[in-house]
Amino acid sequence: ASSPAAAPRRLPFSRVTVEDLTFFGKTLPGRAITDPDLVQSSNEDWLKSVRGSSEVLLRPQTTQEVSQILSYCHSRNLAVNSQGGNTGLVGGSVPVYDEIILSTSLMNSILSFDKISGILTCQAGCVLENLSLYLEERDYIMPLDLGAKGSCQIGGNVATNAGGLRLLRYGSLHGTVLGLEVVLADGRVLDCLSTLRKDNTGYDLKQLFIGSEGTLGVITAVSILCPRKPKSVNVVFLGCETFDQLLKTFQLCKGMLGEILSAFEFLDSECMRLLNTHLKLANPISDCPFYIVIETSGSDSDHDSQKLHNFLEEAMTSLLVTDGTVATEESKIKTLWSMRERVTEALTHDGFTYKYDISLPVERIYQLVTDMREHLGKRARSVVGYGHVGDGNLHLNVTSPAKDPALLASIEPFIYEWTAKFQGSISAEHGLGLKKRNYIYYSKSRPAVAVMGKMKTLLDPKGILNPYKTLPDDLK
Ligand code: FAD
Repeated sequence: ASSPAAAPRRLPFSRVTVEDLTFFGKTLPGRAITDPDLVQSSNEDWLKSVRGSSEVLLRPQTTQEVSQILSYCHSRNLAVNSQGGNTGLVGGSVPVYDEIILSTSLMNSILSFDKISGILTCQAGCVLENLSLYLEERDYIMPLDLGAKGSCQIGGNVATNAGGLRLLRYGSLHGTVLGLEVVLADGRVLDCLSTLRKDNTGYDLKQLFIGSEGTLGVITAVSILCPRKPKSVNVVFLGCETFDQLLKTFQLCKGMLGEILSAFEFLDSECMRLLNTHLKLANPISDCPFYIVIETSGSDSDHDSQKLHNFLEEAMTSLLVTDGTVATEESKIKTLWSMRERVTEALTHDGFTYKYDISLPVERIYQLVTDMREHLGKRARSVVGYGHVGDGNLHLNVTSPAKDPALLASIEPFIYEWTAKFQGSISAEHGLGLKKRNYIYYSKSRPAVAVMGKMKTLLDPKGILNPYKTLPDDLK
């Protein structure tokens, strides 16, 4: 039997004809790409684990163009795959078969920024890092940050409801996104691009599209509430002997750092080994089983340093942490953050990576890594754990020299059953995409999935938007 992650059979969508190409060429002069070399990289995902065979890459610049494309594809029954920065990790961002790739890369204009309220409105294709730089010049920051910031786009972030490194402090996109403009499957433009913090006029439709992974509409513009740029930022890198001590450090940290705590992340010694081996990044402290990255952000450096000093003294004297280093200047802050941010990259050099992104009650998260190591024994090359402790979000990754169906069969459904046993989520922040769609029932009830199916049918009756993704095959 094929794996539940494998693609289902191609659905009976139309195939792209010469007439279709003529229409696309006229609608998007010079931006309807068919050169196989250019289309190729958009067919393959960041992890190089899923490859489609699309022959058309469309690069609209305006909402109107997206509307024209979708209206046409809807009438012709052509399937469409929205694509942002193509950094998604669940095989959602690339076609499975010959779906047309609709890239938002050229939709990269900032539409407005209100310096008083901190509300930014921009097109969906703006790269996250570019938005951050734009805002920093104006004394603001984006409420989200992630390792893929140099390539991922705000539309993709919203479509996946990306969490990332600042969620602990600024909350999820369900709270910070104030408005969205979305083009529906039949080309209608849904203008919910509000820039108001409060708006209770009926159902909050934009929420439906946050985390919908391109299955309900194409996001064309986003308005988002941005925090002020903190005047003082500190990063601490600490080492702990046990995960229990790490959790106690988290408790202490919340109590003593309070409102200035902006991130609490962890990685284990296996991650450190991969950073050393594959990226030549040196451990900034002595070797420990667990490492913590803590960030504080505030408005008064004396106040923040004092708080941090008290916390570190307490953590050291109570023997919760065994070693540590502090950074206040930007270059060292970057170096310490890279120990956490570049784990994903280090893993790609270790072999074929099976990636899991699990939410659990925080006291359980490392037990899963330990149990997985024991369960797999020598069959895996590396089993590593890292992630957003502050959000109860574990990234568990297993590598092997090459793709290994037998190994995969040992990991799944073991990991999903384990997660369900403790009422966890099988996808904390990456979404379901192609790879995880059929595991949805481990985290959602059948009636809930059935309602999702009804919403899909309502908004995209022909199912042309990102088929084979997010929803399980038994709904189709
Ligand atoms: P893509 O990968 O292009 O697309 C992702 C999904 O969104 C696809 O289903 C696609 O169809 C859909 N989509 C894209 N744009 C649109 C649109 N305009 N309208 C409708 N649907 C659309 N994720 C986290 O949550 N937290 C992390 O900390 C994190 N760290 C990462 C670190 C690295 C190094 C990498 C490679 C990835 C990381 N990710 C993380 C995963 C990924 O970066 C996020 O999911 C990101 O938000 C995807 O944005 P993107 O523009 O690359 O979207």
